[in-house]
Amino acid sequence: MAWRSSGSSNESLITNLTRNGLIESERVKDAMLKVDRAHYAPSSPYEDSPQPIGHAATISAPHMHASACESLLTYLSPGAKVLDVGSGSGYLTAVLANLVGPTGTVIGIEHIQPLVDMGRGNMAKSEEGRRMLDSGQVKFVKGDGRKGWAEGAPYDAIHVGAAAAEHHKELTDQLKAPGRLFVPVAEGHLQHIYVIDKMEDGSVDKQKKFGVQYVPLTDAPKS
Ligand code: SAH
Repeated sequence: MAWRSSGSSNESLITNLTRNGLIESERVKDAMLKVDRAHYAPSSPYEDSPQPIGHAATISAPHMHASACESLLTYLSPGAKVLDVGSGSGYLTAVLANLVGPTGTVIGIEHIQPLVDMGRGNMAKSEEGRRMLDSGQVKFVKGDGRKGWAEGAPYDAIHVGAAAAEHHKELTDQLKAPGRLFVPVAEGHLQHIYVIDKMEDGSVDKQKKFGVQYVPLTDAPKS
């Protein structure tokens, strides 16, 4: 089903994702329409599939980006603060920035320096992306995302774009109350999306969603 959403342009890709029910809200649709995936995916940018971006990383499939945004949406109000762990190409970082608007902040954290630079460089390909970088609405930082990014905490929403081997407490600790974490977690050979809510009273609710296939959240390669 997911693969049937491929298009010949950014607009047709987003239209097909919407028609197939993978994008449900106007807000996510608008945010994705404003980011040209060709600035982020080196090949077949309008295919609904992951694409390699080097350094053993991939830009995730558009339907996964849509699903992450839909799932986090109530925590992505204008002005919200968001952490994007494993920001890779920077595509989702840019979409999240559109959702939280100019009064919001999105921090993309990556542990491979060339990918930190790639995320920033990809965003700088558009005038709107350059404005977001210059204003500080979007920031790319280098670090081990399994520990979150304490400097920017607490966050309304945290997205993790690589599969965690365990539930990292630092990420939940850095959520606001209320706040939401979207994270793929590896369990044996399988991976599942977990949506983890920190409630207003500080209690935590974990919900296991659907099966997925992400690259793993790892130690940084030795350079
Ligand atoms: N959201 C990105 C996904 C990139 S793939 C996109 O769609 O473009 C997952 C990314 O997680 C890779 O770029 C990889 O380098 C990064 N990553 C893996 N382990 C990490 C860690 N411990 N800390 C930060 N980033 C990590």
